[in-house]
Amino acid sequence: MRDIFWTAGPWLVALALCQGCGASVSPESAHGGGPARSWSDPRGRALLFDPGISPGDEARLRSDYQFMESRRFQFPAGREADLFGKVFGGAEKGSSVVDYLSLRVRSFVPALSDSELEERLQFGRAGYSVMANNLGAALWIYSKSIDTHPVVFHLGDRALEMKSPRVGLVELGSGYSDSRSGAVMRSATLVHEGRHSDCSTQLSAEDHARLRRGQNPEDPRCTHSHADCPSGHPLAGLPACDSHPWGAYSVEMIYGLGLEAGCVNCSESDRLEARATALDAASRVMVLEEMLSGSLGEPEMGSVQ
Ligand SMILES: [Zn+2]
Repeated sequence: MRDIFWTAGPWLVALALCQGCGASVSPESAHGGGPARSWSDPRGRALLFDPGISPGDEARLRSDYQFMESRRFQFPAGREADLFGKVFGGAEKGSSVVDYLSLRVRSFVPALSDSELEERLQFGRAGYSVMANNLGAALWIYSKSIDTHPVVFHLGDRALEMKSPRVGLVELGSGYSDSRSGAVMRSATLVHEGRHSDCSTQLSAEDHARLRRGQNPEDPRCTHSHADCPSGHPLAGLPACDSHPWGAYSVEMIYGLGLEAGCVNCSESDRLEARATALDAASRVMVLEEMLSGSLGEPEMGSVQ
């Protein structure tokens, strides 16, 4: 069994890819209850909600997209404005953050138990089953490296094929509906998860082999996988840090810093939450100083797949 941990803000979300442990999946049983619900984000792009998404989480998601869309920014000229513009494609409007997400996050499912996951997943090879607790990008990597057959995830009445890292299937953890998290922290979580949808470099033959052996790739930039936090860090030994520049924590940090420093219609509590979010994310970037100085290059926001 191999675990990939991706984190969403302060909550650790475990994504387990489990090979050869579980019964085979019958396609007839591989449907969640009821139809998927569709909603157009503020930029007019369709998002899908699994029928298992609670009304409360759906309302929070809609509200968080509206929060992002309605932010207005005014940065003093400098590195923060420059980085915000490079990551989100613009530094004046929150709509650029929604545009960033529209490319990378497309559907939401609630936290799934392993057995539920098994029911919903359908692998393209008969008699073979893998259980996973995942995001779409993890399943895409699985289908690219470990078992190169189509992987389909059933979201309500929709069958989503994991054919791109940007399939954008996001599982919401319990922290998303925790009343202690506000719109800033929740939207930063979406921004963070969005970065995992970018495969910023081709996986090498050796990294494909490493994945098949149950190891993380040497180069984390395809889906921006996390690294173990170093000794002395509060999360030492847990894969909840980034060893490379411009990964998911860096992008989350830039979003938080942007809200803190440049948002002209944020409340004081929004700004405090943004600062806390940015500081937490920054503490997880192991190459922070070199990255911010520019010596590790500028953010590359494309995806090669
Ligand atoms: Zn992550």
